[in-house]
Amino acid sequence: MFNNTTSKFLLNIARQFSTTTSKCDNFKCKLLIVGGGSGGCATAAKFSKILPKNDLIVLEPSDFHYYQPLFTLVGGGANKIEDARRREEDVLPKNCTWIKDRALEYSPGKNIVLTENGHTINYDYLLVATGIELRYDKIPGLLEALEKPTDVCSIYSPKYASYTFEVLKKLQSGNAIFTFPNTPIKCPGAPQKICYLTDHYLRTHNRRNNVKLTYNTSLPVIFSAKTYADALWIVCKERDINVNLRTNLVRVNSDVNEAIFENLDKPEEKTTVKFNMLHVTPPMATPESLSKNKQLTNSAGFVDVNKDTMQHVNFKNVFAIGDCCSTPNPKTAAAAAAQTKVVFENMNAVMKGDSPRLVYDGYASCPLVTGDKCILAEFDYDFQPLETFPFNQAKEMRSMYHLKRTLLPALYWKLMLNGHWNGPAAFRKLMHLGFGK
Ligand SMILES: Cc1cc2nc3c(=O)[nH]c(=O)nc-3n(C[C@H](O)[C@H](O)[C@H](O)COP(=O)(O)OP(=O)(O)OC[C@H]3O[C@@H](n4cnc5c(N)ncnc54)[C@H](O)[C@@H]3O)c2cc1C
Repeated sequence: MFNNTTSKFLLNIARQFSTTTSKCDNFKCKLLIVGGGSGGCATAAKFSKILPKNDLIVLEPSDFHYYQPLFTLVGGGANKIEDARRREEDVLPKNCTWIKDRALEYSPGKNIVLTENGHTINYDYLLVATGIELRYDKIPGLLEALEKPTDVCSIYSPKYASYTFEVLKKLQSGNAIFTFPNTPIKCPGAPQKICYLTDHYLRTHNRRNNVKLTYNTSLPVIFSAKTYADALWIVCKERDINVNLRTNLVRVNSDVNEAIFENLDKPEEKTTVKFNMLHVTPPMATPESLSKNKQLTNSAGFVDVNKDTMQHVNFKNVFAIGDCCSTPNPKTAAAAAAQTKVVFENMNAVMKGDSPRLVYDGYASCPLVTGDKCILAEFDYDFQPLETFPFNQAKEMRSMYHLKRTLLPALYWKLMLNGHWNGPAAFRKLMHLGFGK
């Protein structure tokens, strides 16, 4: 009766009505979690075991939940985007109320969040877990290039990740350029991982000698943790990858395959480079609804929390988790996992009238895929290694690649999103026979 597009449209409307209400409603709950991504979903799972369904609301606009760490391997051709995707309703705990909508305004003084569809949610406690948004629109010419079949690609969005492999497959010769923007980003290792995967692919297909690989990063270092930075400089040298520090992409002219970069130390100095493949990591920022709220966020737009307890510095009933926090750790799902226990225990303590006691040590992890091997970077707030295994993880290893590709996704879907994974701290102690942190 209906064609494919009409059926999809009607199905979407039906889904929309199954999870949202049709008029502007007033909701009330004990705990409101804004964002049902990695951090929000994992913490909701923990609270769903102690709060009744009506008292736990998750506000999340998306139909799909993505395991974003797999996007890198999708870009490198090892996985399909479907491997990284689940329906949101299948990952949220059954014992919570999902409002399929987006936070529009926060009134932390009044304990109210207003949504885009006009709902009002009153809460006793608020957990902000909105992550950070991809701002492709901040670089002139970039969105336009990504929306057409060009030589410009990006693993960061589920919309463009698969196309990265298409660009890679047709790359025969010339310049392949990889960028890192001039803002905080999620997974600061991913912009160079896709460069190493490109190198590996070209070598496997006997084309490496025809292609010059360049990694242009806005940062003054190749990686924040020195132990792993030292190892990565060696990888770049061995693979003949040019690295330019403090070099920031400011414009893309995809019709003539030109990228324009600025030297961040001499902003007047601009360089135009021809490319045959341009992989862009976009600038990122917290959602505007959040960053414009000066009561909740710091000057950079991140939720202003105590870096140890994850509690808001001014509003004691507000916590944050994951990429949207002001905590100075690299933004990764691994960090969000380590934060879930701290957030859960500390919020629970505050709900009981106690003070938050558990401390987040800044643990973050970045499996730096270098081809068919991987350097498993794990470190704390001081960028000192906090390694799980009792061997040198700064060394490229095949086993760590398999861990990244197979074990970590399983651990994410089965344990973390069900509230059973708080990072590897307990396992690390066991591996080090009870010694170390
Ligand atoms: C290419 C790539 C590679 C990566 N590689 C790794 C890796 O190897 N290892 C690793 O640990 N991490 C990696 N990450 C990072 C990791 O995915 C994120 O750090 C992690 O998902 C952060 O979790 P989060 O809950 O803070 O945010 P997200 O998981 O991004 O979730 C945020 C949620 O909030 C929702 N939201 C946004 N705005 C609103 C609003 N206004 N109202 C309500 N809801 C809202 C969004 O729809 C989303 O579902 C990678 C990420 C990318 C993109």
